[in-house]
Amino acid sequence: MRLDWLIIGGGIHGVHIAARLLGEARVSADALRIIDPADRLLMRWRSCTRITGMTHLRSPVVHHLDLNPRSLKRFASDYRSTSTRTFAPPYDLPALGLFDAHCDQVVETFGLAERHIQERVVGMHIGCEGVSVRLSGGDELTAGNIVLAIGASEQPRRPAWAPTESERVQHVFEEGFDAWPCEARERVAVVGGGISAGQVALRLKKEGHDVHLVSRHALRQHQFDSDPGWLGPKFMSSFGREPDLDRRRAMIVEARHQGSVPPDIERGLRTALAREEIRWHEGEVEGLASKERALKLRLTTGESLEVQRVLLATGFRSERPGGAMLDELIASASLPCADYGYPIVDASLRWHPRVHVCGPLAELELGPASRNIAGARRAGDRLVSVARAQRTTGRWQACVSTRGIDRGGAGAHLNDATCLPKKVAAHIQTIQRSSSTSSHRNTLPVPL
Ligand SMILES: Cc1cc2nc3c(=O)[nH]c(=O)nc-3n(C[C@H](O)[C@H](O)[C@H](O)COP(=O)(O)OP(=O)(O)OC[C@H]3O[C@@H](n4cnc5c(N)ncnc54)[C@H](O)[C@@H]3O)c2cc1C
Repeated sequence: MRLDWLIIGGGIHGVHIAARLLGEARVSADALRIIDPADRLLMRWRSCTRITGMTHLRSPVVHHLDLNPRSLKRFASDYRSTSTRTFAPPYDLPALGLFDAHCDQVVETFGLAERHIQERVVGMHIGCEGVSVRLSGGDELTAGNIVLAIGASEQPRRPAWAPTESERVQHVFEEGFDAWPCEARERVAVVGGGISAGQVALRLKKEGHDVHLVSRHALRQHQFDSDPGWLGPKFMSSFGREPDLDRRRAMIVEARHQGSVPPDIERGLRTALAREEIRWHEGEVEGLASKERALKLRLTTGESLEVQRVLLATGFRSERPGGAMLDELIASASLPCADYGYPIVDASLRWHPRVHVCGPLAELELGPASRNIAGARRAGDRLVSVARAQRTTGRWQACVSTRGIDRGGAGAHLNDATCLPKKVAAHIQTIQRSSSTSSHRNTLPVPL
C-alpha cells in the first residue's frame, strides 16, 4: 500500500494531526492511515485518565482535538452529565466525560476509525519511494510522509526498588494495569508527588481505603503543568532564538512544573490530610521487603511503612521514546539528535524531509508544552503547512539522508538525488557544499 501520510501512534497527538491533515490540508482520506496497536484509537489516553479518577482535565476548554478552538465549548451546550460539572473553574476545565465524548465525535467526523490499522511499527527504512514501515504482523507499508506520534505513555517510570513481577506493586500507567485494590478496605501506599499521585490517593480515599501518600517533596501547587506564556511569544520567542540545544533542554526542564498539583487537588489533599483520611509521608523510598501479604517500605527518613499494596504514580521516564525502532532509524538515516538523544528538527517538525515528529519528540522545537494537547495543536499547525506546501509545490520523491548534509557530503546519499526534481537536488547540493566547511552538531534537516 502506498500512502501520502502515515501517522504512527493513535493517541491525542496522532488523532489530532490526522483530523487537521484531513480537515485543513485536504489530504485524501484514502492516502492517510494511523497505526496503533490498541483495538481503538485513544486507548492509552482513556486508560491513563480513567485509572486516576480525574473528573476534569488540567488544560482549558480550547485545548481539544477538533479543528476550531471553539468546537468543544459548542459541543458542551448539547452535552448533559449528571455526575460532574461540565466545566470546572477558574479556566473552564472540561469534564473528562465531555472531553472524551468530543474526541469520539472528532474520530467519527473524520472517519478515523476506518483509517486505523491495529498493528505496531517495528522498523522503518527511508528509501527513494518513501518511508517503508515494517509492521509487527509482517506486512510492510510505504508512505511519502510519516509522523512519529508515539508519545511517552509506554514508558512508565518504575523506581529501582520496585519489583517488576509483583501483582501488588504496580505502576498505575502500566499497560493492562490490574492492581486496583479488590478488597473492601485495603492499606495502600501511593508513591509520587504530582497530580496523578494526588488523584489516585483521593480516589482510593473516596472508595474507603486506608491511604498513605509517599512523596519526595512537599505539595507543590501550580494551576497548569507549565506557564501558559509557553504557548505564545512571551516565552517561546526567546526559546526559539536559543541556538544551544542543551540550553533549550534546560529551559524545558525548568519550565515544567513536574510533581505539581493544581489548586483543587491540593485543597482535596489538604482536607483529607487534616481529617487523617490520607496519611502523608515525605521521603524517598530506599527499599521494599515483602512478607506473605505484607509489603514493608523503608524510607530515607528512617520511617518504615507496612501496607498491602503499593501503587506507583511516578510518571514517565524522560528518555527518548521509540526504543530500538527509533535507534535503528537514526543509525540508518543518520538523523540528528541532541546530546540527550532527542530529535533535532526544523521549524516544520521535520527530522528528515519525510519524517515528522510531535509530542515529546518535538520538544526541542515546541518547548515545554509539546507533550500536552496544546502541543498537539501546535504540531498540527506546522504539519498542515507542510502538507499544504507539498500540494502546491507538487509531490517530490525525496531520498535524502541527513548524513550527506550533516557530515559534509558522505557521497553515497547524494547519488540518490537522481530521484529528486532538479530544483530540490540543486538546493541539497548547495547545503552539502556549505556544510562540508563547518561543524554541524546542531544542523537541521533540509529546510525545503
Ligand atoms: C493521566 C493524564 C492526564 C493528562 N491530562 C492532561 C490534560 O488535562 N491536558 C493536557 O494538555 N495534557 C494532559 N496529559 C498529557 C498528554 O496530553 C497525554 O499524555 C496524551 O495522552 C499524550 O498523547 P500522545 O498522543 O503523545 O501519547 P499517547 O496517548 O501515549 O499515544 C501514543 C500512542 O502511540 C502508540 N505507539 C507507540 N509506539 C508505537 C509503535 N511502534 N507503533 C504503533 N504505535 C505506537 C502507543 O501505543 C499509544 O497508543 C495527561 C496525561 C496523563 C497521563
